[in-house]
Amino acid sequence: MSQISIKTTLPGPKAKAIIEQDHQYVSTSRYQMYPFVLANGKGCYVEDVDGNVFMDMHAGIAVTSTGHNHPEINAAIDAQTKRYLHNCGNVFYNDSQGRYAQRLAEVTPIHNSDKNRVFFCNTGAEAWDGAVKLARYATGRQNVICFYNGFHGRTLGGISANSSKVVQRRGFGPLLPGMHFSYFPRAFECPSNPPYPTTTEGCLEYLEDILFKKVVAPDEVAAIAFEPVQGEGGYIVPPKAFIEGLRRICDKYGILMIADEVQCGMGRTGKIFAMEHFDVKADIVTTAKGIASGMPIAAFVASDKVMAWPEGAHGSTYGGNPVAVAAADKTLDLLQSSLCANAKDVGKYFMDKLKVLKDKHGESIGDVRGLGLMIGVEFVKRDNGRVVHDGDLRDAVIKKAFTHGLLTLACGNSTLRFCPPLVISKDEVDIVIDIMDAVFSEVI
Ligand code: PMP
Repeated sequence: MSQISIKTTLPGPKAKAIIEQDHQYVSTSRYQMYPFVLANGKGCYVEDVDGNVFMDMHAGIAVTSTGHNHPEINAAIDAQTKRYLHNCGNVFYNDSQGRYAQRLAEVTPIHNSDKNRVFFCNTGAEAWDGAVKLARYATGRQNVICFYNGFHGRTLGGISANSSKVVQRRGFGPLLPGMHFSYFPRAFECPSNPPYPTTTEGCLEYLEDILFKKVVAPDEVAAIAFEPVQGEGGYIVPPKAFIEGLRRICDKYGILMIADEVQCGMGRTGKIFAMEHFDVKADIVTTAKGIASGMPIAAFVASDKVMAWPEGAHGSTYGGNPVAVAAADKTLDLLQSSLCANAKDVGKYFMDKLKVLKDKHGESIGDVRGLGLMIGVEFVKRDNGRVVHDGDLRDAVIKKAFTHGLLTLACGNSTLRFCPPLVISKDEVDIVIDIMDAVFSEVI
């Protein structure tokens, strides 16, 4: 399985039957992207149940960081399954959790900290909820400042802080009180001349001059919480000065900074944590997704001083599951030995090539942006002289790419995201670029 090969109409007969069954019995809330049914994977390639081979540019939403079926990850999982599967590391001790906790604590940059602690859980949303609980507990304050376009998960805590799509909140209220939204800056022109702030200065001023003076007193704010690179909201990389400004504000008012690194962390941007690009450290960092190559585990990390809540204050039955920890431990080895560097190197190559395609295919590609292997392509159109989002074009591109054997994913209003396994090579990027070139020629 090392090259794209589409042999049947899509979906093929087996895929069609499975999708019908899925649609009968799985919650109606599931997304329906395109009719791909996974049967096997190897590296960046995935085979469907009808024997068609595709290239995977979404990695199960930025999760399978070491690629599908990595022999060292599989061996680590196999070895652990032969010893024990579970004992609830939150209550009982085992011989794997503490060792990996030390590694994760030491590799996570935390503000003003000599020693960090880790809380293990299962999903990004659970890490988010825990981080907010910890910030409230540690400060004795209730309010949290989040950012428009942000995404933090689907628990009630998560959706209370989400503002990337209203469908995630609609019908579920009342949501958590004390969550306030501020503006996240961006450097691209879509929509053009919006009436709300998009610059670093405008966004920081809105926070201090409007929110803190008219809505919520800063001495009642527990945390300012953000994704260092916004994921679901559209792969938006903020200017360094914005993150530095947030740190200044946090320090001025005794507010904790939460960096949600669930999507942008664990090597995806070319550094273990995306915050390392901004030379700013958060007080609490959440991580999940790519941490264990596909095994469900998440965590949040804080200093010894901040994570000082009493016995029993927080918990999770499956958090730090030993099989997931074995995969996470091996994933960290691979990130540190080669994959972070690969994400940086191949990510730049990928983005440069996409920028050439942007120039070639004209105005409809409004922006190519990202860090490492977290790359977004924004589709735009003109409306009365204004640049606006073109989500229909983005969706058409994704559907067409599928028929060429490329699995991609949407985010934001009109962005196509590339978040492939971090093992992707430049030769494989060349294949992706050739396909995207053909797709753009057909669709734009
Ligand atoms: N935070 C961020 C930044 C995310 O991208 C996501 C998932 N897309 C989450 C939290 C929630 O993670 P999970 O789906 O594992 O709960």
